[in-house]
Amino acid sequence: MGVFRSDLCAGRVALVTGGGTGIGRGIARALGLHGAKVCIASRRAEVLEAAVRDFEADGIDAMWVPCDVRDGAQVEAVIDAILERWERLDIVVNNAAGNFPAPISGLSYNGFKAVVDIDLRGTYNVTKAAFDKALATSGGHVVNISAPFDHMGVAYQAHCAAAKMGVDSLTRTCAVEFGPHGVRVNGIAPGAIGGTEGMARLGSGDERDARCPLGYVGTPDDIANAVLFLCSEAAAYVTGQVLCVDGGSAVDMSQLAR
Ligand code: NAP
Repeated sequence: MGVFRSDLCAGRVALVTGGGTGIGRGIARALGLHGAKVCIASRRAEVLEAAVRDFEADGIDAMWVPCDVRDGAQVEAVIDAILERWERLDIVVNNAAGNFPAPISGLSYNGFKAVVDIDLRGTYNVTKAAFDKALATSGGHVVNISAPFDHMGVAYQAHCAAAKMGVDSLTRTCAVEFGPHGVRVNGIAPGAIGGTEGMARLGSGDERDARCPLGYVGTPDDIANAVLFLCSEAAAYVTGQVLCVDGGSAVDMSQLAR
């Protein structure tokens, strides 16, 4: 049973990029089960279509639009399709991302650019289009999914870490610019979340990650619950923050004491 009222997001419309798989799918489903109408957008139509079928079987009003978040025109078309169907947009979750492990010496110029383009530029494109076309006049929420890489170096993650720290910076800037428009902008930095493509690609999300202080590998529901909180009235005075949802991994320096 969920911890939030089942009508928490009733009457609201949400967009989740990369909402057909992993964490994004969990977020989209949770928003839908709490009453939001949900659009998911990414590149693979067959993945999106299958996810929307599952959402609809759960009674969720859902749609999908194919989109590469690197392309501003495609992003604008997603926002237009949402406004045409539901005439509003209230919640934007920037979850789409690319990642693969590579040392800098084995990472091509293009490989670095591709991840920065998807994670950072994609987040900018979607946020800007959603703000200009809807949120600036109606208010709402933006939640950016990043990673807990601040104050750390992570081997084989130069591209992802740089992009995600740019995303956190964007979260703060957007919070300042959009606050007067009634738009709250926050981030979530997930730790290792099990059963996701992201973790499978990094060969992680296994029992090594269960060594976090809370002792288990996170689930998409852990991230979805944080999104519900940030988009709820319980977080009415919270903006420009990045909430680390990682079982305590990022603050665990106990190896220094062993
Ligand atoms: P995932 O399943 O690989 O999801 C990535 C999603 O992004 C896919 O649905 C993919 O769909 C979409 N995508 C990729 N490139 C795109 C593009 N150019 N345009 C539009 N959509 C694109 O990953 P995940 O593991 O669930 O991760 C979700 C988010 O959490 C990501 O932001 C990730 O960095 C972050 N995160 C995850 C973990 C973890 O433990 N899994 C930890 C820290 C942070 P298409 O292929 O159809 O485009």
